[in-house]
Amino acid sequence: MTLTYIYLLCISIFILSLRLMSSPKTAVQGGILSILGMCIAIFFDFFPLPQNALYIIITLTLGGIVGIFFGYTAKITKLPQMIAMFNGLGGCAAVFIAFGETDIFPECSAAIPLGCTIGSITFSGSLIAFLKLQEKIKIRIQKSNSIAATNFILFIITLSLGINFCLNNSFYNIIILALVAFVFGITIVLPVGGADMPIVISILNAFSGFASAAIGFAQENILMLAVGTIVGISGTILAYIMTKSMNTSVKNIFFQSKKLADTTLVGDKNAIAGSPRDAAFIMQNSQKVIIVPGFGMAAASAQHALKTMSDLLQNKFGVDVKYAIHPVAGRMPGHMNVLLAEADVDYKNVFAMEDINREFTTADVAYVIGANDITNPEAKNNPSSPLYGMPVLDVVSAKTIFFVKRSLGKGYSGAENPLFFAPNTYMLYGDAKKVTEEIDKYLEEESK
Ligand code: NAP
Repeated sequence: MTLTYIYLLCISIFILSLRLMSSPKTAVQGGILSILGMCIAIFFDFFPLPQNALYIIITLTLGGIVGIFFGYTAKITKLPQMIAMFNGLGGCAAVFIAFGETDIFPECSAAIPLGCTIGSITFSGSLIAFLKLQEKIKIRIQKSNSIAATNFILFIITLSLGINFCLNNSFYNIIILALVAFVFGITIVLPVGGADMPIVISILNAFSGFASAAIGFAQENILMLAVGTIVGISGTILAYIMTKSMNTSVKNIFFQSKKLADTTLVGDKNAIAGSPRDAAFIMQNSQKVIIVPGFGMAAASAQHALKTMSDLLQNKFGVDVKYAIHPVAGRMPGHMNVLLAEADVDYKNVFAMEDINREFTTADVAYVIGANDITNPEAKNNPSSPLYGMPVLDVVSAKTIFFVKRSLGKGYSGAENPLFFAPNTYMLYGDAKKVTEEIDKYLEEESK
């Protein structure tokens, strides 16, 4: 009974920590609180210590060391891969618990094969997602009728094995079920393109939660049931937000071949090259500058140089500086917010797309740093663009546009951005951090 109250306390802690994580200001407290909740849960789950306590302590210590190591060393641009691996391990854990449960109960709960199936799909699917994001798997299997037929057959086999397990509660049955579900996870995720992989990771995140919830249900463990459900629902909501922001759907991701980007090379069009000195001069004489960060800012770790630039413009030249954040800028939702918070950018200057888009018409400068797709006007104008339908930031309406990037190269979608060739666009070629540091240098000189 006491354990139930402790579990309820932990569930409340996890819900509160999620609430805190929803704002960059309180996200760190949220993280610390959830670690505390997890420590309480683990401690009381194993208390009083059983006979095989040494194995549990060794396993927990090793797992903890691996988690801390990856948490500290993973680059922020590689976070989707890390999340994929953690989801996969969550799924794998659910499979092993299902194996362990098989002989314990004389009667089978349908939740065990369900948890085992979802867990195994999550494990293999996450492994494939990880390898694809790491570019270790480069083959692309087209979504086709034969793939759909294979998936259907695997689904029927999985279902039959699940029902059969409920009838005979056999250990071999659950092992075969896990293996078939493992193959099923591979055939589902392998044909998905890299651009959709972060959404797939959110879906697999939801799956890992539902797998734990099913196992928690079978074990009558309310903590596992509640936390699994929270992870499952939040992963589902995140996947929904991402599909909406990228104007796609789960059906498109898994079952429809993607529209290919126009592969015409940048031909005889001329883009105007600008210099950091020009950019510093124009911005210091502006009234309003809107900064648009994208994946390249993260890749270059340019957030601190950017903060220096906006501080100089605001404090020394009285320029109104704002940040415009697209919901899928970078490679995961909230990617830019995390980086700007890390650089101590004042959150009152950071605006979501729907709150700032109208302001570009009154902006003197749009400083687009390492961003591309999220500004591409073809998303609105060209039905044959792979970006068509995705809401974009209206940088096109600003008086002057600076694009900080290393080349005229394309973004994640592979679509060419016609904005590079607009008469009011200046390309600031180079690494986002180096270019911005150059601008900072000129602004500092001018402010003396
Ligand atoms: P993007 O379209 O991928 O463009 C990023 C640009 O950054 C590239 O064109 C690249 O150009 C430049 N770049 C790379 N490294 C750089 C460096 N060190 N310094 C300067 N520039 C650098 O990125 P985005 O505008 O942020 O758009 C995000 C894309 O990811 C969208 O297509 C979105 O749908 C997709 N996506 C996002 C999420 C999410 O949750 N955020 C999930 C799935 C997919 P150069 O090579 O010329 O330098």
